Amino acid sequence: MGKLLIVGSVAFDAIETPFGKTDKILGGAAPFIGLAASQFDVKSAIVSIVGEDFPQEYLDLLTSKGIDISGIEIVKGGKTFYWKGLYHNDLNTRDTLVTELNVLGDFKPVVPDDYKNAEVVMLGNLHPSVQMSVIEQMEKRPSLIVLDTMNFWMDNALDELLDVIKHIDVITINDEEARQLTGEYSLVKAAKKIFTMGPKYVVIKKGEHGALLHFEDQIFYAPALPLEEVFDPTGAGDTFAGGFSGYLGATKNMSFNNLKNAVIHGSNLASFCVERFGTERMKNLERSEVNKRLHQFKSLTQFDIKL
Ligand code: AMP
Repeated sequence: MGKLLIVGSVAFDAIETPFGKTDKILGGAAPFIGLAASQFDVKSAIVSIVGEDFPQEYLDLLTSKGIDISGIEIVKGGKTFYWKGLYHNDLNTRDTLVTELNVLGDFKPVVPDDYKNAEVVMLGNLHPSVQMSVIEQMEKRPSLIVLDTMNFWMDNALDELLDVIKHIDVITINDEEARQLTGEYSLVKAAKKIFTMGPKYVVIKKGEHGALLHFEDQIFYAPALPLEEVFDPTGAGDTFAGGFSGYLGATKNMSFNNLKNAVIHGSNLASFCVERFGTERMKNLERSEVNKRLHQFKSLTQFDIKL
């Protein structure tokens, strides 16, 4: 079985959408990535940090999904990273109201020995120097290093971000962040500029409008499944990244054709994530539901045209 090493924030999230609000529920990039990846036959571990205030029940949830949490440091007397977001009526845009790094501000990641040879490394959203440190601790070059990031790190640690981007294979980034990173409005030009920074593959996420996978001069497009109800988009990007990297860790095939499948798996899982607040939907998601929706995905884009 392939191994997937995940690094990313583990957080308390407070979320407000037009449909309701929550106070301090399980959030952060790494749990969303881990829960999505647990849909595949891949061994996975999370490297992260939390405070003493972090409920054991959340850690138990991750363990119950087969995720190795020995790389999650618990700081005595420390406070867990806290993020608060407010979504606008269209759910495509949000304001970050609070980002309290707390223990994440001074995090020195330690990769568990058993994962130093992981085939796939998923560098989820957190400080780029932490992402870099994880790469440096790997015993051998992983078959694939995937990086996700956000505008917060472009604003606060751009040099370190550009440095880690030089060492990765795939970047997953949303459309606005791709524009911010490159100064290009056209996403095709933005992807080309990102190629010159290091990655071979550029995945640009466009929320309810799907995702684009760029490779050399080719582009593959995966739609997002049109859903009747979107409740809370928080974590959709991380769930996408978890589905993408989990599938690749399970199949160990890093070809462009297989990356296309990975984009579809990522989009499919993200379509579940947004149906409930936070990780609620992903916690109890059955593989049979996932497979059923994959068929819907296929029929959404399949057509028979004579050329
Ligand atoms: P997404 O909706 O995929 O962009 O991810 C939302 C998740 O990212 C939330 O669960 C937050 O806890 C987490 N998050 C927000 N800001 C940051 C940040 N600056 N660093 C790390 N994680 C963050």
